[in-house]
Amino acid sequence: MSAFGFQISAVAGLARRGTLTTAHGTVETPAFMPVGTNATVKAMTPDALRETGAEMILANAYHLMLRPSAERVADLGGLHRFMNWPGPILTDSGGFQVMSLAKLRSIDNDGVTFRSHIDGSEHRLTPERAVQIQHLLDADVTMVFDECTPYPASAEQTATSMRLSMRWAERSKSAFTARRGYALFGIVQGGLYPELRAESATTLRKIGFDGYAVGGLAVGEGRETMLRVLDGTVPELPMDKPRYLMGVGRPDDILGAVKRGIDLFDCVLPTRSGRTAQAFTRTAMLNLRNAKHATETTPLDPDCRCTACRGFSRAYIHHLCKADEILAAILLTTHNLTFYQDFVRTLREGIAAGDFDSAIAGFPIAQETPSQGEATVPDSEDVMEKI
Ligand SMILES: [Zn+2]
Repeated sequence: MSAFGFQISAVAGLARRGTLTTAHGTVETPAFMPVGTNATVKAMTPDALRETGAEMILANAYHLMLRPSAERVADLGGLHRFMNWPGPILTDSGGFQVMSLAKLRSIDNDGVTFRSHIDGSEHRLTPERAVQIQHLLDADVTMVFDECTPYPASAEQTATSMRLSMRWAERSKSAFTARRGYALFGIVQGGLYPELRAESATTLRKIGFDGYAVGGLAVGEGRETMLRVLDGTVPELPMDKPRYLMGVGRPDDILGAVKRGIDLFDCVLPTRSGRTAQAFTRTAMLNLRNAKHATETTPLDPDCRCTACRGFSRAYIHHLCKADEILAAILLTTHNLTFYQDFVRTLREGIAAGDFDSAIAGFPIAQETPSQGEATVPDSEDVMEKI
């Protein structure tokens, strides 16, 4: 089994082309990780997922501890075996989901007690338990347990929250069992305050992690603000470790973050949009429920290699959406994930060739805001749970 590692093979400005090595295989970076919340990337078989070009996926410790439980997944051979995904898996520690989904939560210096959003049962997460759960799941990359700072928050609130997360990061490190090929990532917090972000990054570097995530962004602060935080935060992180921007995002967000030195991304957008009749194309977003697609014989994106674009017209997918057929979600999710993988592959090729801008010329959507397309991006949880 290979040791966990990160090799940078090319740079273009601050952007890096690299390879992440884990216990379950390698990942070419910059990389996009599809979100497999409940040990499934919704509407996708593992084979179909692999065909999109995905090499690493994200799963959620919070959801899996509630159902079917981390212990049961461990008894059944770990998450890779359970969901038949042999490749690398990163697990989110649960901090964000406890704050966004759980009911009646109470936080103290030791951890968080909350009630399940599924059946109301009471649970407790501490840094030690969150790390143990991710170990039971057999995650290649474990994330430290942190408090999700509300947005917006004052400098004082943000500082208190960030310092609690830093104490929890240290406890997460102590609780983590080092194994060959497995890694623990720290998470930089500090909201929109540059001095707090710097303090957080410095604290994490002193503790020492295998990789560093930037958390607490993409929570409503806007693209320019997010990129400004990255401008200040990324230079505070070690050059030779992977950097992960959690929960981001749209193609233009990913482009902006890669240009600032981020290597890893995850986001529900391509999968969630696929279940709400929306398709990313190189030029715009399409809403397949729109009547104008009813007679269009062209594929979703003529430059796309995916199953949906090779075999089906926009008119047919429009029909599936109108008839609420499951195949609509399958085809649109397949397409959107393929689009995202081809987009990050193009970024990798551009960095390697030292010609970043001409590489992405084929993706004008990444240079624009989604409001210039047909659809707006949905973000409600009920949409996420629709299928
Ligand atoms: Zn396609």
